[in-house]
Amino acid sequence: MKSTQFDFAVIGAGVAGSWIAYELSKYAAKTCLIEKENDVAMGATKANSAIIHAGYDPVPGTLMAKLNVRGNELVRALHKKMDIPFRQIGSFVIALTDEDEIKIRELYERGLENGVEGLKILSKEETLALEPNLSPEVRGALFAATAGVCSSFEMSCAPAEVAENNGVELIRNFNVTGMTREGDRRVLVSSDGRTIAARTVINAAGVHADEIAALFGDYSFKMIARRGEYSILDNSCGNLVHHIIFQPPVKYGKGILVSQTVDGNIIVGPTAENIDDKEDKATTPEGQKTAFDGARRSVPSVSERDVITSFSGIRPIGGKGDFIIGFSDADKALFNVAGIESPGLTAGPAIGEYVVEKIAENGFVFEKNPDFDNSRKVIRFKDLSDDEKNRIIAENPLYGRVICRCETVTEGEIADSINRGAGARDMDGVKRRVRAGMGRCQGGFCGPRVMEILARELKIPMSEVTKFGGGSRMTEKEEI
Ligand SMILES: Cc1cc2nc3c(=O)[nH]c(=O)nc-3n(C[C@H](O)[C@H](O)[C@H](O)COP(=O)(O)OP(=O)(O)OC[C@H]3O[C@@H](n4cnc5c(N)ncnc54)[C@H](O)[C@@H]3O)c2cc1C
Repeated sequence: MKSTQFDFAVIGAGVAGSWIAYELSKYAAKTCLIEKENDVAMGATKANSAIIHAGYDPVPGTLMAKLNVRGNELVRALHKKMDIPFRQIGSFVIALTDEDEIKIRELYERGLENGVEGLKILSKEETLALEPNLSPEVRGALFAATAGVCSSFEMSCAPAEVAENNGVELIRNFNVTGMTREGDRRVLVSSDGRTIAARTVINAAGVHADEIAALFGDYSFKMIARRGEYSILDNSCGNLVHHIIFQPPVKYGKGILVSQTVDGNIIVGPTAENIDDKEDKATTPEGQKTAFDGARRSVPSVSERDVITSFSGIRPIGGKGDFIIGFSDADKALFNVAGIESPGLTAGPAIGEYVVEKIAENGFVFEKNPDFDNSRKVIRFKDLSDDEKNRIIAENPLYGRVICRCETVTEGEIADSINRGAGARDMDGVKRRVRAGMGRCQGGFCGPRVMEILARELKIPMSEVTKFGGGSRMTEKEEI
């Protein structure tokens, strides 16, 4: 930790906290982004459908509706400059029954009210022409042209990196468990006794936001953890559907979807199950069955045989029917950003804007950071042309050494993933950023080399290299 005194302390480096830190880094205020884990995006932001929603779903007039539509605009405007993987493939909400036909018409009207552009009701023939693998029972669909798929990890990592590059301090492994008051400052205490003082604390702690609020005497909301299970299918099934295929929303959310991912695989899910343990990310045979039974109503040929991996994510449900964003009534030094359930991933960039606007309205005078720069470029070696590869190897020979053969990841990319803002600090962090270890051998060959690179770049002994932080050491040895 470089400093312990800040104007703003943002708790939680998920999509909400990262975009708030990004927005604050446009100004000269002193800000830190605090995260209990060893990396950014380790909560709900890591595991979800990764859809950038168009905005026809939230109830008009809610913050969810406003920030969904604005967030969608911002993602489309910023993704190239900030190098966030995003493909605007469009979404369908399909109608399979009379009732569904009424529902998609309602969603269409709602979308118009929310200001969503590019909505259209498609006939059965139009729907099947665009998506021939849909159920023959389909009667039509609501098409939303502005929806797309993204990398949910990069939706948080990119703004956290830009924020850090522009002066925000990212403080990892700081699990806020206590708070004391010192005049107009609030002193946050971590589970290992470290402290950070700030004038305003922004609570973006996801499913744990109610616990943070309680430290300030704010008991106005209680978070519910709702688990959603998914499966990813092999990329040989990548042409099963070309758009995001939803059914009409159900009581507990947007229902089960079948979609392409940003990498060209197919994703099936999520289920919706309230759970007591806020960190229980198990997948279950029942959950997988529910997901596939639901998915087959849309796409009958989708099959469990093609599953390459399964995972689950935890929705942070605030119970108020809308995002909970604003100064706390219990303590004006606390600003809550809670209940960021779906479409929270989409809304992230707009949440950042909105939070800064509300803090400015409350009297904080923001001075511009004259050096703010949000450009970001990540080299993905295997996507380069031969000329570009040669040029980059000439500039830095580390790009000429392939470390992960399954995914063609070079030493240059791994070193860069560690050294850039909000960089990787452990094996899983490298894997999430550059895919080293994600291929068929699952790191069997490249794992030891990645460990060496982490130790070298972080200047730590090999025995301190971890899989995901904490006590997850890879080896007791000083060298391999
Ligand atoms: C199954 C599922 C599907 C979804 N699909 C979509 C979708 O397709 N599109 C969409 O727009 N949205 C979707 N969402 C919603 C979206 O994922 C969330 O709205 C969003 O990720 C919430 O972000 P957050 O930053 O509020 O919370 P989180 O990402 O959970 O971040 C909170 C952070 O706070 C940290 N933290 C917690 N407690 C402490 C503490 N005491 N001290 C320090 N740090 C702490 C956590 O480690 C975590 O990193 C989905 C969610 C789920 C679970």
